[in-house]
Amino acid sequence: MPATRLDEANELLELCESEEGVWCALGVHPHEAASFAEADVERLRALLAHPRAVAVGECGLDFHYDHAPREVQERVLELQLALAVELGLPAVIHNRESDERMVRLLTRPAHARLRCDLHSFAGGIAMARELVARGHFFGVSGMITFPRADNVRAALAEVPIDRLLVETDTPYLAPVPHRGQRNEPAFVVEVAARLAALRGVGLDDIERTTAAAFFRLFPKARGPAALDAVGAPE
Ligand SMILES: [Zn+2]
Repeated sequence: MPATRLDEANELLELCESEEGVWCALGVHPHEAASFAEADVERLRALLAHPRAVAVGECGLDFHYDHAPREVQERVLELQLALAVELGLPAVIHNRESDERMVRLLTRPAHARLRCDLHSFAGGIAMARELVARGHFFGVSGMITFPRADNVRAALAEVPIDRLLVETDTPYLAPVPHRGQRNEPAFVVEVAARLAALRGVGLDDIERTTAAAFFRLFPKARGPAALDAVGAPE
């Protein structure tokens, strides 16, 4: 589960604590970038110490809605990515109509060790290849089922299967055959089924590969023992 603002963090963490197998990303969405001040980095750092907070996010750029000025979005994203690098945590990335800027940011030398979930990926094949080469992961959402989303399917067909995750983006992006309804997490099976068809594998293969990808990208979700095994972040 991703946060969109820091004042949601405690509620998200309580929800995580109430269920086994639920983790969250904590950060500030580009729509909310104006709510984040430089001093909030300390607050976010403290929140991310929680064992159920396994990533920074959802953070990113949204040049479609432009709810916050672009330079503010970029500054707030840079601060959060720097924190992710410092803490050895992955980041969950929102990116809309800002592909060029996003690739430039993620390919900076300072971000060489950063691993991201490009959530609800809708970039092109070239962007997918560039980010595959840098070790990133790709969130597959209900978009993969949309009749006109050939570009999304073409890019996802290029990504190594062990870098793909499935996601709901509830309440948005309800997959076919639930278009027009409020999305529900249970509908994610339609996303997985469409991905299986696209990749020519079974649904059980997608269950296995996406679960493994989740725990590779978010090692903190495996617990403290596993973190020791993979090596603590420098
Ligand atoms: Zn998003």
